[in-house]
This record gives sequence, structure tokens and C-alpha cells, in this order.
Amino acid sequence: MQVFVVEKAHYMSLFFVMRFIRIFTDLTIVRPSAPFSCIIRHPDKLFWFAVNHQLYFDLDGERRIVNHKAKQYQAEIQQLTETLLNHIGEDPNREGLQRTPERVADMWAEVTGGYDVSPDECLKDAVFEIEGDSMLVVKDIEFYSLCEHHLLPFFGKIHVGYIPKGKAVGLGKIPQAIDMFARRLQIQERLTEEVASLLEQILQPRGVGVVAEGFHLCLAMRGMQNQGARLITSAMRGSFRSDEKTRGEFLQLLEKGTL
Ligand code: ZN
Repeated sequence: MQVFVVEKAHYMSLFFVMRFIRIFTDLTIVRPSAPFSCIIRHPDKLFWFAVNHQLYFDLDGERRIVNHKAKQYQAEIQQLTETLLNHIGEDPNREGLQRTPERVADMWAEVTGGYDVSPDECLKDAVFEIEGDSMLVVKDIEFYSLCEHHLLPFFGKIHVGYIPKGKAVGLGKIPQAIDMFARRLQIQERLTEEVASLLEQILQPRGVGVVAEGFHLCLAMRGMQNQGARLITSAMRGSFRSDEKTRGEFLQLLEKGTL
């Protein structure tokens, strides 16, 4: 996969270059939209890029978030991976491993793409006014992250609840913001707190509750081999912290089975 990172400053000139190229090729600009985003279509590939945060430009047609610093150091990451393979007693030249350094460098750029995006940007445009003070709950939001102690994955589900005070956010946007926090080196406790703080900051609600359940490969694969253990973390703010009834209602909603 080839990924180009487009700096904001270069975007407008690129846009005009692409328009120019279009005259001579099959490339079509499909959706010039918000100041810094558009889709460019090729007969058999879809290019997508949004440059608000120096994002990505993906020739495979999938929308991906890429850590542009990791892209910049791709050659070094490949070299490090080759050294690592050597040092664990592998032969980097054997058939199965020949392209591994390249794949690993690509993977790091992708799984740490959250460093380039500020999660509040995901939510800002999706805030709307709402009346009433009923609790809103979004359950079972999947997350995939990497523990900062071992660089091994941890993953699971996050449940979010809040009681609005005039402002709510589009439900689809909360998983996107969580994904941005998760695509960084993390510990589950901080991930949980960051989600709660973000909602508190953007919505200023009466209260927020966030509960995360995570399965940690560093626990399952190493040492104790504690395969079945899951870590549960929670962050309660405002009325979710001060009012036992509110907290109870939230936790009870989480226990209820899915539809
Ligand atoms: Zn760990």
C-alpha cells in the first residue's frame, strides 16, 4: 500500500495540480467539499483525503488514518524490525519474513494514527442542542489499543453514558473519538479517563460515566498466563459520581442484555 501524507500547506496547490492532471487522465475529483477535504476517483481506485490534520491519502481505496511521523521514519522502523528479528534468533531473509519489516512499518503507522488527530475535532461538528435531562447511553463500542508497557494489544468494549445539560453529540461520533484515543500507546485507565474528560469538556453535561472492559494480551501471553482475565475500569464525573442513584441507573443499563 502506498500512502502519501499531504501537509495542509501543500493541499491547495495539490488540489489545483489534481484538477490539471484530470484534464489528461481518468482521475476525477468527486467531492470537493469542506475547505480541506475531497475525494478523488480513479477508474479502479478511490483516493480519499482530508487534510485538516495532515491526514492520509490512500491508494487502496480504504479510509485509513496514518501516523505521519511513523510514515516519515518508515525506513528506520523497517531497519529496527530487521534487527529485532535477528536478535530473537530469526533469519529475516527466510521466505516468510522477507516482507515482514515493511509490513510492520506500515502497521505502526496505522495503529498509532491517533497521534495525528485531536479527538475533540471528531466531536465538535457533531454537537447539537437537546432538551430534557434523560440519560443517554452508548454501549459496546469496540476499541483496539496497544499497552504502553509492552506494546502488546489490549481490546474490548467501552460503554458511555451522560446526562445532557442542553448539548448532545451524534452517537456515531463517540466511537470515532474513542478510536483516536485508542490508536496511541495507552493504558486502559487513562483511555477511560480521557473519554470521560473529552465528553465533559465538549458537552458540559450534568454527568458522564465511562466503563471499559479490556482483554490484555500482555496478561494473557506472558508470565501468569491469566487467559480469561479482563480488566474493568471506570470514570464517573458530575452526577454520575455524586449521585448514587444516577450511577446505579447507568450500571444497571449496562447489565441489560443486547437486543
Ligand atoms: Zn502491558
